[in-house]
Amino acid sequence: MLDKVKVEEVPAVVALPDDLANPDHITIIKGSTDILLIAPHACIRDGKPKDDENTGPITEAVARQIGCSAIINTHYHKPDKKKYRKGHKPKIDEYPYGSEYDNLNLNVIAHAEQVPGYLGAIRDVVGEPGRPGKTTVIWIHGADDIKAKVVADAGTYDSPPAEIDAFIGYGQGDEPKTKTGGDRHTAEPETVERFRKALISNGMNAVPTDDNADNYRGRSEAGMNQWFRNEGYTFGQVESIQLEIRKGGFRDLHHNIEKTAGILIEALSQEILVPNNQKEIKADERLVEVAFTHLQGIFAKHIHEAMLHGGRYLVRTFYGSYKNARENNKIRKESLHQLIQKLSEVSGKAPKKTWIYDAVKLAVDDHHFRSTKFRLYGKIGHSHKVLLTRVPEITRKKRLVKEIAKANGVYTVEKLRQRIKETAKTNRVFITPENVPADATLEQQERKKLEELLGNLDQRIANRQNELVRYNADRERVDRIIKSKPKDKRKPRKVGFRDWTDPSCNVNIQTGCSNNCRYCYAKTQAYRREQVALGSWADQFIRRHDVDKHRNLYHGLVGFPSTHDITPKNLDEYLYVLGKLLRAGNEVLIVSKPRLKCIKEICDACRFFKDKILFRFTIGAMENDILRFWEPNAPAYEERKECLEYAYDKDFRTSLSMEPLLAMNQADQMIADLYFSVSEDIWIGPMNHLNEMKKDADTDLLAEIATIETGQTAEALRTLYDSYKGDPLIKWKTGARDLIKPDEM
Ligand code: SF4
Repeated sequence: MLDKVKVEEVPAVVALPDDLANPDHITIIKGSTDILLIAPHACIRDGKPKDDENTGPITEAVARQIGCSAIINTHYHKPDKKKYRKGHKPKIDEYPYGSEYDNLNLNVIAHAEQVPGYLGAIRDVVGEPGRPGKTTVIWIHGADDIKAKVVADAGTYDSPPAEIDAFIGYGQGDEPKTKTGGDRHTAEPETVERFRKALISNGMNAVPTDDNADNYRGRSEAGMNQWFRNEGYTFGQVESIQLEIRKGGFRDLHHNIEKTAGILIEALSQEILVPNNQKEIKADERLVEVAFTHLQGIFAKHIHEAMLHGGRYLVRTFYGSYKNARENNKIRKESLHQLIQKLSEVSGKAPKKTWIYDAVKLAVDDHHFRSTKFRLYGKIGHSHKVLLTRVPEITRKKRLVKEIAKANGVYTVEKLRQRIKETAKTNRVFITPENVPADATLEQQERKKLEELLGNLDQRIANRQNELVRYNADRERVDRIIKSKPKDKRKPRKVGFRDWTDPSCNVNIQTGCSNNCRYCYAKTQAYRREQVALGSWADQFIRRHDVDKHRNLYHGLVGFPSTHDITPKNLDEYLYVLGKLLRAGNEVLIVSKPRLKCIKEICDACRFFKDKILFRFTIGAMENDILRFWEPNAPAYEERKECLEYAYDKDFRTSLSMEPLLAMNQADQMIADLYFSVSEDIWIGPMNHLNEMKKDADTDLLAEIATIETGQTAEALRTLYDSYKGDPLIKWKTGARDLIKPDEM
């Protein structure tokens, strides 16, 4: 990408062009990298986004983060085709601002020519044809969800249509109207492939549009993606790529817009546009000049943003990828060396060598924590982040980030420096057969210690072989008995707890449950089997024999409890049984509509079993009126939230169950409110067994069931699913999968 670069003047963050582009119509961000983003359809009318909705904010956020140039049309609306005769070229004076015809399509060359300063602004960045230096132009478009589906359904792609998030056009295939002429590529296929891979690795499943598609190929000679080619630019000067991003899940809600900008920031900050296998023999003088100017410009900005922007730029330009930067492999070693030399000779405001290397490490850390979704990192201050770049081990770094974030602003940089020293001291390598370190560490050990380790490993292998013999014999016996039995006709349906634990691993010590939830299936079953008198489910009684029972190691995750809750009345017995389960080596899932007193006592009693406990708290709505109706005696929203935060702060694994979802319209707000107290997952599911519930329902209950049915439609669940697609924390219960469409999940 930067094998040839142009010399630029000192960059301004935002600058107006020299010609007549109206800043109220066209936003121009002048950057100093070799990327130009153009959003030709980001029109806003009466405060509302039109055409390719929200491509403007996405483009602007990316440009400001990575320091590249951007041109955004915020004014001209795509014309309504029906209002124009064929071949009519609208003139700008013909349709004054505010008139119904104040419309132009800035992706069409004939229309773009009508807008003063628009093409001039593009030329300002890429230079005239023949000028040395190279720019990659990315056209940021929005694919209309319906059209995108048509294009996806009609073409041949590796991914199923519903899983395609974006299309990439670079002039592939025939001219769309005449179906002749073949490819008119606007970028090298290798560049397109690197771009596609970078988008995919950051969470956007992008595909090159099928050669025969009617749309999204950037192939029309009248379209702006072909303009550079028409004007005589070579690939050595401009490569132009059209990106069509779907609306659902990427451009609709506020957090999706941020997510999409984040994907592009990460994708454009890594190796995608840099050719592979570059090895530099001699410093590139022009590159050094551009980098010098760029870093000086960045350095003048706010310190944290400046360092991160600078780091991303340095990684992309001199290392080529985050992987290279982490391993300290420079693809442009000589140029970087010369740049550092040049910066060191400047007196006054310019970054120095330490700043350069800290910035690279900061960008590497930021990239790692973003891509692993370790959100606590975003909560800590800049100075802490810089100091943490000196901690080589990711696990230790994460532990320290947690410490800082928990201290809520009362963790000084000096304290962190101290903790880094302390944790380094205790960072001894423990070598066991279960934890054999990397070769480099092994090579540092004494021969005697290694022989001892070898003996232990041999012993483990021998033990396992004996076990294997026994398991095989047992397996044969079990298999023989299974074959002698008739086949089960009914397949058990996975609902409720079955998504999480095997029913044979569930433990309960009580009949009845004081929460007395109206939708409780355990209650319905108990009444049907006449295990409790009708109407007495809330009168819980503890089953002594289940409390006193000996507890062994179960074959899977133990659900305790699964048909009652933990309340102050059964807490002593609960803790007694929980202790037995944990000491037997079990891992326990604690599902509860939690009470703070109980959760505090469990956390305290089980502080040495944090890795064996998973708290999953059920919260189906934020409004207490709704909770009180469906779960009459369970705690209020605020108490359940406090429990989640408490367990999370005590370093227990936490999870949220939003099944049954009692208020579909509060789902987004609730996820946002609780997200950062969840370490594992958030399960979403509808209310099940509604027809059964209706049988004995009074009018109040029937009315509330009707409200639930209106809310939890397949469409509503699918919209929710689309919003959180790709979020690793969000998981779907079988009830939700059945309604949405199981084959797409
Ligand atoms: S908390 Fe669970 S077991 Fe208790 S009544 Fe509600 S649904 Fe039933």
